[in-house]
Amino acid sequence: MERSAYIRTARRIVVKIGTHVLTDDRGRLATEIFDSVIDEVVRLSEAGKEIVIVSSGAIAAGRALLAPAHQTASIPEKQALAAIGQTQLMGMYQQALDRYGKRAAQVLLTRDDLGHRRRYLNARNTLFKLLQFSVVPVVNENDTVMVEEIKFGDNDSLSARVTILVDADILILLTDAPGLCARHGTGVRDEAPIPFVQEVTPDLRRLARGPSGLLGTGGMATKIEAARIATEAGHPAVIADGKRPNVITDILEGRQVGTFFAPLEDRLSHKKHWIAYSLPKKGELVLDDGAVRAIVHKGKSLLSSGVVEVRGRFDSGEMVACLDRDGIERARGITHYSSQEILRIAGKQSGEIESILGYRIQDEVIHRDELVLMTRQGTCQARRTE
Ligand code: GLU
Repeated sequence: MERSAYIRTARRIVVKIGTHVLTDDRGRLATEIFDSVIDEVVRLSEAGKEIVIVSSGAIAAGRALLAPAHQTASIPEKQALAAIGQTQLMGMYQQALDRYGKRAAQVLLTRDDLGHRRRYLNARNTLFKLLQFSVVPVVNENDTVMVEEIKFGDNDSLSARVTILVDADILILLTDAPGLCARHGTGVRDEAPIPFVQEVTPDLRRLARGPSGLLGTGGMATKIEAARIATEAGHPAVIADGKRPNVITDILEGRQVGTFFAPLEDRLSHKKHWIAYSLPKKGELVLDDGAVRAIVHKGKSLLSSGVVEVRGRFDSGEMVACLDRDGIERARGITHYSSQEILRIAGKQSGEIESILGYRIQDEVIHRDELVLMTRQGTCQARRTE
């Protein structure tokens, strides 16, 4: 399949912007770059796209503010520089957005957060809410608590995980190289990037082990790794030159910019397979006939009103099985509510959730995108539930 076929319908986009893209030759955050990135982001959002930015640049900003001559730094120094620079980094995004009367939102995450199901879910809900508010989320690693990431990388793999988190249609990694070049790291300049990568092979990963820059921590290797993580989960990725004018728009219009990485498999089936077979089953919900019909035949989400019994103790974000009244497993899914919460809202309308619990996480107990229909043989049904 051509790259444009993957890209044409992309609506939700994660754009990772590296330190070298955001800084000038003296290592300071460059206003004109923020302006041009935000010009594109605003134009694209007005055309209906949802954009999440993953931005590096905090350490570089902190260094430029505090100790421009000091090039190397210990890990605690880098963490302190990141803490100093992060506010300036956000200030630059906000300033660029002010020109349009729009807001940026700071989201600091760690890999641990995304490995912990409840925090994963909370981060995702927050990001979705921000997008709904038409605010531009700007994600960075929470460098204060993350030592390994500063040491080895890398907002690149964070951006791949954010791509999976928000179920983005594409990950765009903007860097100071035109893409992945066959002679990467050999000092050869002006080489055209490899336009299309079908699969991230070990050879390709070897190719990428060039030197990483002084301020950013990733280099090409972590970008390839990010592309691997994203594509294996079914999300296409592009590595491209962040200083090229209109780079995001050109990529989204299907132009041959940078290196495109094709997704390895269908995203929905990847996710559904993961839900059905990789997550431990933590409990069961028995549904009334109407709810079974709605989820099996109409591709609907599971609502609290259709739950008649809760079995087991589970937390929100865990996988539970949905049984019909005869005890046959009809679906599996990720629940937004814990067993304790569902016990209180079972049989009640979604509109009553807030008054019963005092808060409302989502309208659905299990959203249809996270619900996998099961066959009587206990296998995941191929048919999409939408
Ligand atoms: N989080 C770091 C920063 O904002 C960057 C890490 C990276 O370059 O990938 O400076």
